[in-house]
Amino acid sequence: MLLEDERTALAEAGRRLGARNLVIGTSGNLSARREDLVAVTPTGGIISELTPGQMTVISLQDGRVVEGELAPTSEVPMHLAIYRATNTGAIAHTHATTTTAIGLVADEIPLVHYTMLSLGGAVRVADYACYGTDELAELVVKALEFKQAALMRNHGSIAVGSSLAKAVDNLELCEWAAATYHQALLASAVTGRAPRELTQAEQEEVIMAALSSGYGTTKKIEPEDAGE
Ligand code: 13P
Ligand code: ZN
Repeated sequence: MLLEDERTALAEAGRRLGARNLVIGTSGNLSARREDLVAVTPTGGIISELTPGQMTVISLQDGRVVEGELAPTSEVPMHLAIYRATNTGAIAHTHATTTTAIGLVADEIPLVHYTMLSLGGAVRVADYACYGTDELAELVVKALEFKQAALMRNHGSIAVGSSLAKAVDNLELCEWAAATYHQALLASAVTGRAPRELTQAEQEEVIMAALSSGYGTTKKIEPEDAGE
C-alpha cells in the first residue's frame, strides 16, 4: 500500500478531531504529502471513522489518482495549490464551530495571545468561494501566506504543518484563539473596551524568549554536581 504511514496518520488525525468535536460527519478533509505523492481523505467520508485503506493517493503534479478505491476529496484543488505554494507536509481543514463563526463577522483573528505567534501572528479570513473550486484554492493560498492557519469565510478553517499531527495542533490552536477572541468580544460589549493586541515590541520579546528557552518543550533538570 502506497504512503501507508501517511494514510495511518490521516485516520488517527480524523479520530482525534472527532474526539475533540472539531469535525462533524463528512465535513472537512485532510492530506499528507510525501515527495510527489499526496494521501487524502475520500470525498463524502466520515472523517472520524475512516480507515487507512479508505484513503486515496494522488499525484502532486496533476491530481490524478495513483492508488485507492474511493474518489478523493472535492478539495483536491485547494490541497494541491497549498503544497505547490509552500513546502508544507500536511493540511487539515474542518468546519469547527468557533473558527467558522468568527469567519462570519471578522476579517481576521487579531494577535490577542502570544501563542498565536506560532501560527504566524494574526489569522486571516479567506474570502468566500464555493467549495472545491480553483477560486477557493487561490483565496486560501493567499490567506495562508506566511501563516500556519487561516479561516474561510462562510465555510470553516484550515491549518498546515510539517506533519499531520502538527497541522492538527495548529488547527486546534486556531480554534482556541477564535474561542478566546469570541469571549473577549462578548466581554468587550459589557466593558466597552476593545480586545487588546500585542505590540510589535511585545511580540519580539516573546519570540526571543521562546527561541532561547525552547518554549513548549519539557526540560530535564540537570543534576547538581555531586561535589567531592
Ligand atoms: P469532501 O467530503 O469532498 O472532502 O468535502 C467536505 C468539505 O469540507 C468541502 O470543503
Ligand atoms: Zn469544507
